[in-house]
Amino acid sequence: MLRSLFLAAAGSSRLERLVESAPVSKGIVRRFVAGQDADEALRVSRELADDGLGVTLARLDGGTGSAEQAAEVRDGYVAVLGRLRDAGLTPAAEVSVKLSALGQAIDERLAYENAHTICAAADEAGTTVTLDAEDHGTTDAMIETALELRKDFPRTGVALQAHLRRTEGDCRELSAEGSRVRLCKGAYAEPESVAFQSALDVDKSFVRCLNILMSGEGYPMVATHDPRLVAIAEDRARWFDRSTGEYEFQLLYGVRPEEQARLAAGGHTVRVYLPYGDQWYGYLMRRIAERPLALPKRK
Ligand code: FAD
Repeated sequence: MLRSLFLAAAGSSRLERLVESAPVSKGIVRRFVAGQDADEALRVSRELADDGLGVTLARLDGGTGSAEQAAEVRDGYVAVLGRLRDAGLTPAAEVSVKLSALGQAIDERLAYENAHTICAAADEAGTTVTLDAEDHGTTDAMIETALELRKDFPRTGVALQAHLRRTEGDCRELSAEGSRVRLCKGAYAEPESVAFQSALDVDKSFVRCLNILMSGEGYPMVATHDPRLVAIAEDRARWFDRSTGEYEFQLLYGVRPEEQARLAAGGHTVRVYLPYGDQWYGYLMRRIAERPLALPKRK
């Protein structure tokens, strides 16, 4: 119930204005978002690198309504990749990209070309790009784009959402050698026709997908904060004889930092998803929707 309320709030522009101007928002935002610009994102990336954690930097951009806006997003990524390289933060730092921010709704070819430019910049900087998973209506296009990008940049990663019924099949198709696949539960509200609705069914799907990825030839990126799923992933990595460089854990910035440290201290590769930018409202609401009761109490 609370989750649906916050997910609905993520799409409300009236509430957005209210939350952005509220003084209490600042502290909550700082917990989940690196900062408003690339300078702050680089500073936090450096801090995390010093703690032995990799990052995947993600710009927070609003809906992209024009080719010019999409070009701005693309150029922002190219610039930040150059700065990560100059700062010696690659390959531990990579970037995560949403095709919707690169113009997917205007023209899929345009989004592909923008993504290609970002992948080329990442390649030059000695690092990689992962395509974020968005709502289920974009899954086919996202996978097709990733496969096309992989012809030139084989290490392009793709995110899959365990809550979608199709994802087990997608995992099978994407578990070939070298294929980088991020497995997450899925952050978007989806109808029953395409997605499991109960937490238990989503978890069971996550484990089935994990089994496919861990037993396959690819590079699984296990993106969850769920202690049970983390334990199962650790177990499967041992069972399928994967050494620490052959899979990784991914967690969101600000979520379970003690677990991030524990996993890294245990020798696992750990990458923190690090969002930055001024369009933080929708992202923040999705995080709060996941754990509404963990909001700071009023003093
Ligand atoms: P949840 O079901 O939210 O939580 C399970 C358990 O984890 C909780 O019961 C609790 O024990 C623990 N836990 C969770 N949060 C906290 C907390 N704040 N503090 C303490 N314990 C906690 N979604 C997409 O749709 N597309 C993407 O591309 C995408 N990329 C992602 C990348 C990364 C690195 C991560 C971590 C998530 C990504 N997500 C993405 C979001 C994901 O789909 C989930 O919405 C989100 O991660 C919450 O699911 P969860 O697996 O953490 O489990």
